[in-house]
Amino acid sequence: MKLGFIGTGNMGNPMAVNMIKAGHELVVHDLRRESATNLLEMGATWADSPKDTVPGSEIVFTSLPVPRDVEAVALGENGVLEGATPETIYVDLSTNSPTMIRSIHQTCAQKGVAVLDAPVSGGVYGAAAGTLAVMVGGDEETFKKVKPALDSIGTHVVYCGPIGNGSVCKICNNLLSMGIGVLLSEALTMGVKAGVDLAVLADAISNSSGGNKRLTEKFPRFLFKGNFEPGFATALAAKDVRLATDLGREYGIPMELSNLVDQRHVEAMLRGWGPEDSDAVARIQEEKSGVQLRLPEN
Ligand code: NAD
Repeated sequence: MKLGFIGTGNMGNPMAVNMIKAGHELVVHDLRRESATNLLEMGATWADSPKDTVPGSEIVFTSLPVPRDVEAVALGENGVLEGATPETIYVDLSTNSPTMIRSIHQTCAQKGVAVLDAPVSGGVYGAAAGTLAVMVGGDEETFKKVKPALDSIGTHVVYCGPIGNGSVCKICNNLLSMGIGVLLSEALTMGVKAGVDLAVLADAISNSSGGNKRLTEKFPRFLFKGNFEPGFATALAAKDVRLATDLGREYGIPMELSNLVDQRHVEAMLRGWGPEDSDAVARIQEEKSGVQLRLPEN
């Protein structure tokens, strides 16, 4: 298929690589042209604006940091909608606000342009391996047309219902991931201070009812190594927790614990850790407890 791809950052770049490897023809754009160098070497074509990715593309994808970036790229000057026709399908892979993507969907519908939200989970390792979970919202017939392209980036491509529902699923997931991260940092610092070796503690929990992917996949690659190169930036994790607490307010759902998780991420941001990997948030608990959660390299 002929595809447009906007936002070739930590996630977008490896997703675009896998689309090219699967035989799709890509036109790419990013604010930083250098972020697409490897894609251009693989045969992708450069476009000077989001609008310029549209002509000839059956589907245009975005993978952008925060909702206002998605809004600007989709609806702003020289944006996707300016170049789109009723043949264009626009798919947002970012973790975005359900309310924002529903509003973009409505605006695009006035021009006959179909929109899906398709946020992804699995991190940069999953993106590189092509094993992401993809949570898709929007018209089901449109989903069927887009699925072959999504199958090149993920092994679990799930239809979640009408527009915005993919984002709702993704935000619920990330709230849990970030909340578990905070709780894990408390449990692990306590366990280590109470005398258990971190490797033993992590192994015991991983194989018990408290086990989870944050402990078995994310912490070993980042926190336990003292590696805070993103990965998944703290600023994006803080954005996702806030998307969840905002959604709770919008729908009148009490979310006491989630707001504590939100404030922990605010604190990490105030310390200037936004650009670091989101495992940096656990350093606040390390500081408070006087315990560092690091494992020796094998
Ligand atoms: P990133 O900051 O590494 O990449 C975003 C890219 O978008 C950058 O290259 C940036 O230059 C580009 N960009 C920003 N504004 C733009 C604009 N107006 N026009 C064109 N390009 C623009 O972020 P990322 O980690 O790749 O995350 C992208 C999205 O995926 C976010 O919504 C994030 O929450 C989500 N996500 C990230 C991960 C992860 O592990 N990093 C995992 C799942 C989902």
